[in-house]
Amino acid sequence: MKEHTRVVVIGGGIVGAAVLYHLTKLGWSDVVMVERKQLTAGSTWHAAGAFHSMNSDPNMAKLQAYAISVYKEVEKISGQDVGMHLTGGLNVAATPDRWENVRYEHEKLKVLGIESQLVGPGEIRDLCPIIDTRDVIGGLFVGNEGNLDPYGSTHALAKAARMAGAEVYLKTMVEDLVHKPDGSWTVVTDKGNIHCEHVVNAAGLWAREVGRMAGVHVPIVPMEHHYILTGDMDELAQWDGELPLVLDLDGEMYLRQERNGVLLGVYEKNSTPWSLDGTPWDYGESDLLEPRLENIEDELMRGFERYPAVADAGIRRIVNGPFTFAPDGNPLVGPVRGVQNYWSCCGVMAGFSQGSGIALALSQWMIEGEPEGDVFAMDVNRFGKFATKAYSIEKANEFYQNRFYLLCPNDEWPAARPNKVSAFHDRLVQANAVFGSSFGLELPLWFAPEGSEPVETPSFRRSNAHEPVAEECRAVRDGVGILDGSSFAKYEISGPDAEGFMEYLFASRLPELGKIRMGPLLLPSGHLKGDMTVMRLAQDKFRVIGSGYLQEFHMLWFEQHVGDRNVRIANRSDELSAIVIAGPGSRELMSLAASGDVSNESMPFMSVRSMDVGIAPCQVARLSFTGELGYEMYTPVVYARSLYDHLLEAGEKLGIKPFGIRALLSLGMEKSFGIWSREFSPDYTPVMCGFDRFVDYDKAGFIGREAALADRDSEPEHRLVTLEIDSIDADAWGYEPVWCKDEYAGFVTSGTYGHTVQKSLALAYIKTQFLNASKEEFSVHVVDQRRPAVILPEAAYDPSGSLMRS
Ligand SMILES: Cc1cc2nc3c(=O)[nH]c(=O)nc-3n(C[C@H](O)[C@H](O)[C@H](O)COP(=O)(O)OP(=O)(O)OC[C@H]3O[C@@H](n4cnc5c(N)ncnc54)[C@H](O)[C@@H]3O)c2cc1C
Repeated sequence: MKEHTRVVVIGGGIVGAAVLYHLTKLGWSDVVMVERKQLTAGSTWHAAGAFHSMNSDPNMAKLQAYAISVYKEVEKISGQDVGMHLTGGLNVAATPDRWENVRYEHEKLKVLGIESQLVGPGEIRDLCPIIDTRDVIGGLFVGNEGNLDPYGSTHALAKAARMAGAEVYLKTMVEDLVHKPDGSWTVVTDKGNIHCEHVVNAAGLWAREVGRMAGVHVPIVPMEHHYILTGDMDELAQWDGELPLVLDLDGEMYLRQERNGVLLGVYEKNSTPWSLDGTPWDYGESDLLEPRLENIEDELMRGFERYPAVADAGIRRIVNGPFTFAPDGNPLVGPVRGVQNYWSCCGVMAGFSQGSGIALALSQWMIEGEPEGDVFAMDVNRFGKFATKAYSIEKANEFYQNRFYLLCPNDEWPAARPNKVSAFHDRLVQANAVFGSSFGLELPLWFAPEGSEPVETPSFRRSNAHEPVAEECRAVRDGVGILDGSSFAKYEISGPDAEGFMEYLFASRLPELGKIRMGPLLLPSGHLKGDMTVMRLAQDKFRVIGSGYLQEFHMLWFEQHVGDRNVRIANRSDELSAIVIAGPGSRELMSLAASGDVSNESMPFMSVRSMDVGIAPCQVARLSFTGELGYEMYTPVVYARSLYDHLLEAGEKLGIKPFGIRALLSLGMEKSFGIWSREFSPDYTPVMCGFDRFVDYDKAGFIGREAALADRDSEPEHRLVTLEIDSIDADAWGYEPVWCKDEYAGFVTSGTYGHTVQKSLALAYIKTQFLNASKEEFSVHVVDQRRPAVILPEAAYDPSGSLMRS
């Protein structure tokens, strides 16, 4: 066994093996894997081995498509058969809503370059002769799906890695991890110690334990999962085809062929979290759990109805095994904040679909500093302290039960809520707010009319929120609206070296004292890392505002780059509240409520001042995402409730009205303002999204400058534009394809109705060669229809920006 190596990967399941292979593939060969028993000894050995490419997050879907391509690659390199059955996958829809959704997914796959076909009941029967299609409306067939052998695929990855120089130590147990002052690690095993630069936690079912060895809380929960294997069926014995992987979405089950019988797996509503205090070390290798037939009875009965031959063939074997889920069902990948050189690669609930995609992203992160593209959906730093053990159990259970739930874009799931609430949550409840949740915090989405239940109907079309949101938008455009901004992330960067650090961090010029600037953060590759608002509170003190759900993601970035500068970086998000007022009446409200001079002369657009509002000490910033005259007030949480009450009272005669995030997004869309994770993400560069206007290319030494200069001087493949869509009762949501005549021209990043301009609007990245096409030639898929669209030459509302500057 080596005493020194670059990386120790802990865990020899499908994920650990994929990481080991990708580290070698990207050039690090001095790497080892430590496995306490045999390869596949955790969840991997008893998996159904099915893989598919669909995922609601498009970047995850791309990585899943990549993962599938790797199996053939490692089979060729290693000579180890991976047992690939590339049968294709069939997603079956049995309700009109699901059918609509399947057609929407079909369009989204075109954006990703993944081929799929819509099929009717007859074609479904041709592909799967044992299915009863009496209530089936249609389906989606994706050729690049199927199943493989868990043993063969894990061994092929590990062998290919070994052939490239990696070493694999079996029957070797990692017992402890010791962090050295220089950031390196001593991995303590029962066979001796290994000193290494990096540790990867790919310990699957035991990831919580391996987390604890480094003081890291891993928010995952093992869930029991059943599938049955049937006896042989004549229908299959006499057939010369092979069944595809069938996901019966409404039946909440999946099926694939196993010899002349089938494997039928279910996601039962009566789910069972397993071993909540930790996974026993003596579990694994060939252990299974006692089946709970009573828990899966309903789903099995549905299976027997859908596939009558299954009932006739009888159950040959029942498998019940545990595998892990993060609160939102996506993996936990990447560097763990505060624990240098400790990498998470766990919580993977679909290791065969996702393993190599995750491993590629992680290996790029470790070797090149960042993964290619936006992988936030699996970034371990999308969770913070709010993801406690109890929270994770409730959420993982909810996710498991809803694995095939028809998720509408306006869905909000109820488990583990309310968790964090803002200081004046009760006031929002009184005002009949409909809440969403972000980073564990309740935030008002919109306000239901008095006397009605504050509930939104899940829909792909305009919901019952449409009219109330229209009213909230009118209140802001015509009078004054008030918004709970508690969900904004609020950082403070201060100290003797703060200015130098900020100059290095941000691609923009820094604001002068008392001023505000938009501050893009760039990656060394020149792609976006952040879209922040920077305020200068003192010569050596900055307030930085961002999206609340990115707190850990941003803090990690700041901490990774501060070096030995004398700077204090503080996340004040939970200590400070933000209240936003916006609309033409907001200055009058401020003059009634605030102690300071809020005139345009004294407090122009993009300035910040300290003043009391009511009796609350505030930092008041003059800006607004709504495109109207507006102010943001930052105050310690303890003052926020009285501040909110004071503003409501002072604004009563001005007709003040609370508004929510939905109205904010609609108002912002009318101004063509983008948001992070949609228009802005590591997938895009400043020139692509129009952020080049904020970048100070003359400034020396900021992160990503060289690449930003190259970006400025070249023509991008896509540019961000605003579309007006001639739609009827629905708006685009994101990732719908945009067509120019019949050619694929780009994709939507977000869409909503612009209530002031009364237009369905969307932001979209369009390939630059189509930007000069004539107006009439564009169309966008909205839900299930191709609707005409035009590119707007400027923002739909107040393009000169005179109102917010007034
Ligand atoms: C019944 C069932 C059916 C499934 N079907 C599918 C499917 O069809 N498709 C799909 O994609 N996924 C499926 N899954 C999920 C899939 O099994 C998991 O996503 C995958 O196995 C996770 O792999 P892993 O490598 O992360 O973890 P694991 O397989 O749990 O591997 C972790 C490894 O780490 C080792 N280890 C842990 N701690 C230590 C330590 N301290 N020292 C040394 N070694 C250690 C363990 O021994 C183990 O081998 C299924 C799961 C179940 C239970």
